[in-house]
Amino acid sequence: MRHLLLFFICLFVSTLAFAQSPICGTTASTLPDMDWKKYEAFKKERLNNPLKSPEYTFPVQIHVIRNDKGQTDIDVNSILDELIFSNSYFTGHGIEFVHCGDVRYIDNSEYQRFGSQTDGQEVSYCSVSDALNIFVTNTVFAGNVQVCGYAHFPWFDTKMVVIADKCNSDGYLFAHELGHALGLFHTHETFFGEELVNGSNCEASGDFICDTPADPLLGWNNVDPFCVYTGDDRDAQGATYEPVPAFIMSYARSSCRRRFSPEQGIRMQFMIEEYYADYLCENIIARTPNSDALITIFPNPATEFVRVHNRECAEFEIKLYDTTGRTVLSQQNDTYIDLERVQNGIYYLHLQDLRSDWSYAQSILVQK
Ligand SMILES: [Zn+2]
Repeated sequence: MRHLLLFFICLFVSTLAFAQSPICGTTASTLPDMDWKKYEAFKKERLNNPLKSPEYTFPVQIHVIRNDKGQTDIDVNSILDELIFSNSYFTGHGIEFVHCGDVRYIDNSEYQRFGSQTDGQEVSYCSVSDALNIFVTNTVFAGNVQVCGYAHFPWFDTKMVVIADKCNSDGYLFAHELGHALGLFHTHETFFGEELVNGSNCEASGDFICDTPADPLLGWNNVDPFCVYTGDDRDAQGATYEPVPAFIMSYARSSCRRRFSPEQGIRMQFMIEEYYADYLCENIIARTPNSDALITIFPNPATEFVRVHNRECAEFEIKLYDTTGRTVLSQQNDTYIDLERVQNGIYYLHLQDLRSDWSYAQSILVQK
């Protein structure tokens, strides 16, 4: 009996905690700088001829954040299962996510409590450039508020998704954050103006999608366990809301959120073509031909830049020496080395791991 009572107390407390905390830390602040006329033509064509099978294979790279000793209670296989499961929400819209290579690890206890304020800069040195980087960690914060994850929109400079491991279930959290990463706003978004129930302003307010009805902000308080909206909110014109709790981009109970609308699917397809056209699994695999290789430096010879592909995500200092031993350039953790101010010639690129004695050197030819 005591156990049963304890179970219900735990259930109540956890339900309350979940009900009170927003599930997602993604906030809308800017609209994409895209050709909306081109989008309208694309949408019209796709509504007439919907994709029947996945035409967009979208590469992702999962990074698991562990403590300094390389320990974690995150189950990597279940993370990969979640990603595969989340595909079931996208394949009907012509999109399939693929994990190209191995899961990568970042061993740093500080980042197990991941904050969105730093905009992911702290782990950017681990990012790959040809896939969407998904960081999975123990807890995620948006400011001081604990959230289940967040994503950067595709028109941001750094594209990424962060997932809190403990929130994950049935792939819907991955699907929700990947939806943001492919350009979708929340169905209850008001940053650009409130959408009216009659849909008359749907193209320029709310989530900028017209087949997702105006949403007054769904949650545990106004959607019942049968996924029926029970609220009585009214819009600015006094009309009663008729939202759809089944949409993944809403905040309805997680057990209700199971689909994207046709127009949301088309918006994501368009975003892939506009912002992710150069993403390719082949590039990532090609850069690590030797599975033992920790570091790949390319291109060599180089003209404008050199990239360091850091397979184990070591934190290191990078120095570039000329043939006389003079230091030409020095930086930490930034995998992009700008050669704009470097003259033609042979140089030695030296990497020093900041957390061990490990170092690596390679000659590179700068030939502009
Ligand atoms: Zn969200």
